[in-house]
Amino acid sequence: MMFTGVAICARRLADGIGELCFDRRDESVNKFDRTTIAELRQVLAAARADTTLRGLLITSAKEAFVVGADIGEFGALFALPEQELLASNAASNRVFNELEELPFPAVVAIDGFALGGGLEVALAADYRVASERAQLGLPEVKLGLIPGLGGTVRLPRIAGLATAVEWITSGAPVTATAAAKAGVVDDVFQPSVLRAAALELLHRAIESPTTWQARRAAKAAPVAGTVAERAGILAAARERVAARAPKHQPATALAIALLGTAAPRGRDDALSLEAATFARVARTQAADSLVQTFISDQIVKKRAKAAAAGAPAIERIAVLGAGIMGGGIAYASALRGIGVLLKDIQQSQLDLGLAEARKLLQKQVTSGRLDVERADRILASISPRQDFSGFDAAGIVIEAIVERLDTKRAVLRELEGVVQPTAVIASNTSSLRIDDLAAALARPQNLVGMHFFNPVPLMPLVEVVRGSQSSDAAVAAVVKLALAMGKTPIVVKDGPGFLVNRIITPYMLAFGRLLADGVDFVQIDAAMEAFGWPMGPAYLNDVVGMDTGMHVAATICAGFPERMRRTWKDPLAVMVAQRRLGQKTGIGFYRYSLDASGKPQKRVAEGSHALLEQLREHGACELSAAEIQERMMLPLLLEAARCLEEGVAASASELDMALLLGLGFPPYLGGALKYIDWLGAERVVELCERYAALGPLYEPPQSLRRGARKFYSRA
Ligand code: NAD
Repeated sequence: MMFTGVAICARRLADGIGELCFDRRDESVNKFDRTTIAELRQVLAAARADTTLRGLLITSAKEAFVVGADIGEFGALFALPEQELLASNAASNRVFNELEELPFPAVVAIDGFALGGGLEVALAADYRVASERAQLGLPEVKLGLIPGLGGTVRLPRIAGLATAVEWITSGAPVTATAAAKAGVVDDVFQPSVLRAAALELLHRAIESPTTWQARRAAKAAPVAGTVAERAGILAAARERVAARAPKHQPATALAIALLGTAAPRGRDDALSLEAATFARVARTQAADSLVQTFISDQIVKKRAKAAAAGAPAIERIAVLGAGIMGGGIAYASALRGIGVLLKDIQQSQLDLGLAEARKLLQKQVTSGRLDVERADRILASISPRQDFSGFDAAGIVIEAIVERLDTKRAVLRELEGVVQPTAVIASNTSSLRIDDLAAALARPQNLVGMHFFNPVPLMPLVEVVRGSQSSDAAVAAVVKLALAMGKTPIVVKDGPGFLVNRIITPYMLAFGRLLADGVDFVQIDAAMEAFGWPMGPAYLNDVVGMDTGMHVAATICAGFPERMRRTWKDPLAVMVAQRRLGQKTGIGFYRYSLDASGKPQKRVAEGSHALLEQLREHGACELSAAEIQERMMLPLLLEAARCLEEGVAASASELDMALLLGLGFPPYLGGALKYIDWLGAERVVELCERYAALGPLYEPPQSLRRGARKFYSRA
């Protein structure tokens, strides 16, 4: 039994034992793909044919056992007609069954990750031992899928229904110790002795055939437990999932239903049921989108790494402005070990910024994520000041002062005189053009936009804005800093609103137009939240702050006067005139207060409806949720297509990731461009024609008119 393939090597050890080792050539990790399955089939056939073999040891030569399926293959696989998808799945399952039916026992040694297909292959063996650092799990639901290589069949038969339901619906990895407690692995060892321990277990198994044969019988039979016990477990799971499952992602609910239906059946029936559910779930919009998002996330990470190449390491930065954003930036940097000089013109703001950082650090200490000493050190690494002392040594300065062009220009000019000629200046402006700021500078090549989102410690996205004169070195330095802060940087082209704020602006204009047409804001929020947004547009305006939203929208609309033209009254202006600024004043569209137990409460604010009636052009109007959703989403989708056409983002993946991370764009849609692909350009143009009377916000750009082309191609 000798085999050397691309993904698997096999050899013969002493005493009639064979070893099958996952060892993907030229890659750092083992994945389950077509090649791996084909090689597994070959090795198992050879093992079965070898009448002198008495046991099989399964190992990995990498740090991790097998990290899961090769997600890059999913696009082409899921595009197959249903019957072909089922046939492909059945063929893979036969290989796993062959492992389970070998004429001798098999033991798997798991070090590092055994996820998805990696765990499923281990479940097909008779025994599993794991190293202390191993992590096991079935993360398929995170991609909108269910396990499709026998995971839903073998896990409940090995560890019981409750464990299977928990692992499969959460998708979370589990430590080796927890897996042993759940009965998924037989024992846990230190990594250095794992292989020897697995071999020893295999020898013992060879001596006691009735034990492994009994295990196999249990894996072929119905799931243990009475009908009532199973019903109880499934009902509790349904309730839990109904409360926490993301909107429009049916995978968890389908997995629970499948586990219930398959539990009283034998292995082979259960495998057929799993395959049918897998084929169904693989065709959902959520799976299609989440798989693309996984791939896009990797593309974005790769691009960021490439963009940061060559930039020097960052140990210390300077931040100008200690307000909401500057304070957040200082805290997030310090938390990652980057020292911060924090300057503001007001001592009170510096005090406030540090107090906020202290509060956030205290929270981390209370939750056990940080010890007190470390928290103190982090806080001490932010050094506040009202002058520029120390700025001459800073390699990067982030500017986060008030959003006024004249003030920013004056301050940036002054800053340029203080810092080294090579120092990079990153402006956190949310709506001013980098080129307009650069015009005031002697060294415009050193200026780059670094657009964080609020609240900085929580929001992962940073738009790195390349002005027309920004140097590659300056962009690299800012991308490197964003990465060092643990953020996801996406490089975008300079222009009004950059990428994310530009794309959301037509959506907000559509909201204003709906109000002017007499639609109730509560109905609009309900329709958009049902569609999958974390909050409706009225609520979002309250959270952002009406004055901020109005200011940003005005700047962006001025940049695209031909399209982002308002011929109706601005609802935000009406609110601002009444000092109803949203959450920060306790009242906007909604009223924010604390209930008797101190929990924040939101209800429709008194007077909101009366105020908004002033905007109406023809009295009240009732629209269906679908029409509201179409009228809100179309302008956003069209703007996204335009941004890609104009090269504001370099690729569909980067554009959609920015929307997912920056806006909380509904994950099951996978971003604006992915959603257009799902609908089809023809359908989008058709919708544009239906709403053409609403004006230029609903005019499709050239790239969509030409039809047919998809933003994402299937591999
Ligand atoms: P803020 O009003 O909370 O803070 C601005 C701070 O700058 C104040 O503390 C002020 O004292 C200080 N300041 C003013 N002039 C200064 C100077 N010459 N030197 C040093 N400090 C000075 O504002 P913010 O919300 O933190 O916004 C700051 C920047 O971040 C703006 O450009 C804004 O557009 C941008 N931004 C804000 C958000 C948001 O949601 N708040 C999101 C993204 C970007």
